[in-house]
Amino acid sequence: MYNYDYRGVVHLHSTYSDGHGSVEEIMECANQVGLDFVMLTDHDTMKPLDDGHEKWHSSSLLICGTEITPRYNHYTVFGAERLNGVEELAKKQPQEIIDEINRQGWLGFIAHPDHEGTKRFDIPSYKWQDWNVNNFTGIGLWDLMTDWQEKLDKDNITVEVYTEFAKHLSGPKDITLKRWDELNKNRRVVGIGEIDNHKSTKEYNGQKIVVFPYDVAFRTITNHILLNKPLDRDFKKAKEQVLSAFRDGKVYVSFDYWDDPSEFVFEIEEGDNCAYMGDELKLKEQAEVIVSLPASAYINVICDSETIWEGEGDEAIVPTNKPGVYRVEVYKNDLTWILSNPIYVR
Ligand SMILES: [Zn+2]
Ligand SMILES: [Zn+2]
Repeated sequence: MYNYDYRGVVHLHSTYSDGHGSVEEIMECANQVGLDFVMLTDHDTMKPLDDGHEKWHSSSLLICGTEITPRYNHYTVFGAERLNGVEELAKKQPQEIIDEINRQGWLGFIAHPDHEGTKRFDIPSYKWQDWNVNNFTGIGLWDLMTDWQEKLDKDNITVEVYTEFAKHLSGPKDITLKRWDELNKNRRVVGIGEIDNHKSTKEYNGQKIVVFPYDVAFRTITNHILLNKPLDRDFKKAKEQVLSAFRDGKVYVSFDYWDDPSEFVFEIEEGDNCAYMGDELKLKEQAEVIVSLPASAYINVICDSETIWEGEGDEAIVPTNKPGVYRVEVYKNDLTWILSNPIYVR
């Protein structure tokens, strides 16, 4: 059983790279918003870790990873010990980067794979181009910046794009989800949510607007990890708990802005056998897919990228006798609220 649900954000930048907030400011915001962990990814550097920032900051744990950033093919990485040779990594080919990250025992996630950029603010595309790679831990499914920036190319944008940004998000891209499902047919690929926040200032009709203050971004796309015991107060042990949950796919993406999803349950049961996210279930005859939510929403149960059940409610119980890769998407206000990682039924 996984009785503990902890939430945090992945992928953001501080003044150690091109972000506009200090680590102290970021962690104050994390405390305010009630994040349990923050996974910082300043570009191609281990400096925040070397400066001793990786620790508990009051009630929020800071994990100092990095974002390896060649021109294309950005890769966010996290690990137990210090990553060596980080300055050289961005010069390597994507597979070489992935292999080196694995060699050092780190985890790696393909960042904002379908990032298009926006002409209006001269932000070019930073998409992932090399899909022949293998052995990466996971992939970003939904990124706040990627999603939101696409709205900026429309002629009719108003200041509401900033102030009521949630109305202007589209959710994870179909192309990203389809690719993820394809990848999961042959191996295990963990899906995560990203914010890629920089706290940048943009000018709109002479008005300066920050996109987004960290405390705003921290209420949007989060990652909830499932643990079978509480996070340790020893930061090294807590970090290992968080990273293990990501490695094992015991994580779901949530748009916390809609509602607190913390009581979300997704499991597949057959008799005494119960599989949770990231687990494999050896099917004998017939199992039940069980979904439970803390509030009513629109549930999609997906097997091998096909929706096998959908409906409004706070619960779904779906019998199945078919092996496959099962996952759940939940919608609220026509936008994704919860996106689970898969359970693999063999
Ligand atoms: Zn990037
Ligand atoms: Zn970034």
